[in-house]
Amino acid sequence: MVRATRYASAVVTTRYRCEACGNLTRFDVTVTRRVQAFYHYSLGGDLEVEDPEVLDETVEAVSCRWCGNGGRVVEVPGAAEPASGAPAPGADAVTPPP
Ligand SMILES: [Zn+2]
Repeated sequence: MVRATRYASAVVTTRYRCEACGNLTRFDVTVTRRVQAFYHYSLGGDLEVEDPEVLDETVEAVSCRWCGNGGRVVEVPGAAEPASGAPAPGADAVTPPP
């Protein structure tokens, strides 16, 4: 059994990479997240938040913790996408050369 904790690592599956310095592990991320969860109180009033379900999530900003660059951080493709036959929308968003 996994002991329920706060939302800690419930839902974030996106990986990022800073193209400026190569950082893969440290980012400041600003997220708006709407979560429904089961609030389980003990009789003593201690709360455990269980079964968090993300209803809506918007990543507002991601900046690199190492170099502070917010403009060069990109999502690492394929890290969070479930396998599917068709390419994800936006996967080929790079404009082809004329
Ligand atoms: Zn960086």
